[in-house]
Amino acid sequence: MKGKVIVVGAGVAGLVSALELARAGYDVQVVERQAAPGGKMRQVFAGGRPVDAGPTVFTMRWVFERIFGDAGRVFAEEVRLKPLSILARHAWDGDHRLDLFAGVEQSADAIGAFAGPREAEGFRQFCARARDVYQTLEEPFIRSPQPTPISLAFSSGLRGLTDMWRISPFSTLWSALGDHFQDPRLRQLFGRYATYCGSSPFDAPATLMLVAHVEQDGVWIIEDGMHALAQSLESIARENGAQFKYGVEVEEVLTTAGRISGVRLRNGEVLEAENVIVNADSAAVAAGLLGRSVASTVSPLRRDQRSLSAMTWVMNAETRGFPLVRHNVFFSGNYQAEFDDIFGRSRLPREPTVYVCAQDRSDDAAEFQGGRERLLVLVNAPATGDSDRFTGAEAAECEERTFALLARLGLDVDRAGSDTVLTTPAGFHDLFPATGGALYGAASHGWMASFSRPGGKTRIPGLYLAGGSVHPGPGVPMAALSGWLAAAQLAVDHNSTRL
Ligand SMILES: Cc1cc2nc3c(=O)[nH]c(=O)nc-3n(C[C@H](O)[C@H](O)[C@H](O)COP(=O)(O)OP(=O)(O)OC[C@H]3O[C@@H](n4cnc5c(N)ncnc54)[C@H](O)[C@@H]3O)c2cc1C
Repeated sequence: MKGKVIVVGAGVAGLVSALELARAGYDVQVVERQAAPGGKMRQVFAGGRPVDAGPTVFTMRWVFERIFGDAGRVFAEEVRLKPLSILARHAWDGDHRLDLFAGVEQSADAIGAFAGPREAEGFRQFCARARDVYQTLEEPFIRSPQPTPISLAFSSGLRGLTDMWRISPFSTLWSALGDHFQDPRLRQLFGRYATYCGSSPFDAPATLMLVAHVEQDGVWIIEDGMHALAQSLESIARENGAQFKYGVEVEEVLTTAGRISGVRLRNGEVLEAENVIVNADSAAVAAGLLGRSVASTVSPLRRDQRSLSAMTWVMNAETRGFPLVRHNVFFSGNYQAEFDDIFGRSRLPREPTVYVCAQDRSDDAAEFQGGRERLLVLVNAPATGDSDRFTGAEAAECEERTFALLARLGLDVDRAGSDTVLTTPAGFHDLFPATGGALYGAASHGWMASFSRPGGKTRIPGLYLAGGSVHPGPGVPMAALSGWLAAAQLAVDHNSTRL
């Protein structure tokens, strides 16, 4: 064995770190406070049926192909995948509906029919620009352990500087979308990609348009639910020797003479180790929830820097009217007001945009047999779960507004007997301590925000961070990359201290 590593948390990043290090010959022990792996990739039961209550849009498949491939597995054989041809169905007032498809030209045709040829051309140009942003940032930012504006600008000599300038890091996503779309509905649709990083399109940099490219590159369904991905990573890590303890919380990361020496669990047990990877949100480290000696390794996040939280309803319900596909978005009439409510006034939006994931459907309407179906209904909310638990009345009002908007846009959900499970920002705060319910670490507001996330390596020898609050950022594949980067940095440090 090369040495002992404790991974605090079995979110996707922790699972990837555990798998990578177990495979490399380390003695790996994962400690998770919940009863199962996955973290935000959790399942909730409604009507006795398991429903994905966290991430539902699976992208950047190549990340997992590589991780599974390195472990000698074929990703598509371990996890049942199905590509979607309709990426999402979008609805606005007045019965206006638009599907986006996996192919750029098919989507451009749909946009042409919806909003005219000029908007279709704008979409083609937008896709080319989003691809350019993605390709410019993939190597020097996404795959780099801790990029800075300077390292990024000089990543490929003078060309790096011009590349940086070209991708408009200083404009907001909303204003950049105005270069391509005149139709406010399309600006709203593509602006929504900022929320994938928990941010407002009015404050996020234009570079977040790379999310649009990531989706155009392919969206898949994991047939047994996203949770199956966590279970698969866990079982391969186990087969490689990693051990897992569930229902146990790490109370303190221990240091001796300035370097990591282990962890103390809430039940008092001490586990010794030379290395610890923390997959808890970095805000929990900064808040001292993992002990004083490691708290100062992460700068605290101000409340106004937090990303979005959410109100989610997990249900098993009958629906009528709107022809649901897997991913459906029902837009509010005033996007600016929605984000002003959330980020400006820290309140639940007066009129929310509503995402509905219909988990018994794909993009083929004929496949759905009818009857009750599993739904995740989500609206964005402020990350104030530690200060404002949203009383029963506020939550009930938000629920009424949410389902009233769905009904106005054509979808009736029969809530009676749907066995609904509501999670509020306070519920997310309880699940992911010190976050206020923020689901994506710091909001990506302003051009420097993406560089302010902590990197995987800390200044304490033997202590590493991994997860969606850490570089390269949130989302299942990005968090997985952070787990991979943390494991790689640990292995490099281990080898260099041994030489
Ligand atoms: C409602 C929702 C919808 C989303 N939609 C999408 C989507 O469609 N597509 C997408 O790609 N991403 C989506 N995301 C984001 C994505 O889920 C996350 O970015 C990603 O799963 C975060 O993984 P992580 O590695 O940071 O770990 P987390 O999932 O944050 O897990 C961290 C783990 O650490 C454990 N832990 C914390 N403290 C301790 C402690 N002291 N001791 C022991 N264990 C501890 C926690 O219990 C938890 O299990 C969504 C998230 C949510 C919540």
